[in-house]
Amino acid sequence: MNSSTPTSAFANTARVPARWRPDVERVLITQGRIRNRLRILAREIERDFIGSEMVVVSLLNGTVMLLADLVRCLSLPLRLDFIGVSSYGAGTESGELIFTKDLRLDVRGRDVLLVDDILDTGRTMTRVLERLTALGPRRIRTCVLLDKPSRRIKSIQADYVGFEIPDVFVVGYGLDFAERYRNLPFVGVLHPDIYSHKQTGTRRLSRLNPPEAMKISAL
Ligand code: 5GP
Ligand code: MG
Repeated sequence: MNSSTPTSAFANTARVPARWRPDVERVLITQGRIRNRLRILAREIERDFIGSEMVVVSLLNGTVMLLADLVRCLSLPLRLDFIGVSSYGAGTESGELIFTKDLRLDVRGRDVLLVDDILDTGRTMTRVLERLTALGPRRIRTCVLLDKPSRRIKSIQADYVGFEIPDVFVVGYGLDFAERYRNLPFVGVLHPDIYSHKQTGTRRLSRLNPPEAMKISAL
């Protein structure tokens, strides 16, 4: 069931705030557009979950902003819990996923909404779904702010998608690069200089390509 129609992230002319300009190439999705989109998704989620007390399960750390904003739009009884996932093995194809925190709530027989920041290759979501399914919930629905369908390796789709985006490395609104930029209130495209080999000083924080660098940080 995919009741939400993802919104294209383009057609955005907002300027990058001056203090972020050296790091962020362009604003992909403004705070306002995120807010509006989350209201629409919340109505769809309410329709689908009416009559049940849902457990909203969110993946740390990238979902902090999304979760806080989304659940405040939901007028349903719900409980919150968190799963911690990290990925190691930078530079390798496998990049094994490690669970750093498990659920505390019992989700057996419950309706679960799994929330993540971005669906990229789909490996994370697939692994987490396997783990959650083993706990015997009544049903699981998935919600992501961003979807990069062109990067998919696993055959998986989210039920509620905020925005479909192209294959660019984004930061902000919870999403990081080497644990930075999570506090940007918008979703922006990271300037390639930040992760290129040419930079010096603080910019040399990563000599890895973005997909590899992001894999050594908490998701
Ligand atoms: P997947 O397992 O689907 O390949 O990756 C999912 C995770 O990779 C996301 O939860 C996120 O932490 C990270 N990720 C994927 N694409 C991006 C991106 O463009 N920017 C950032 N900051 N993280 C990303
Ligand atoms: Mg994440």
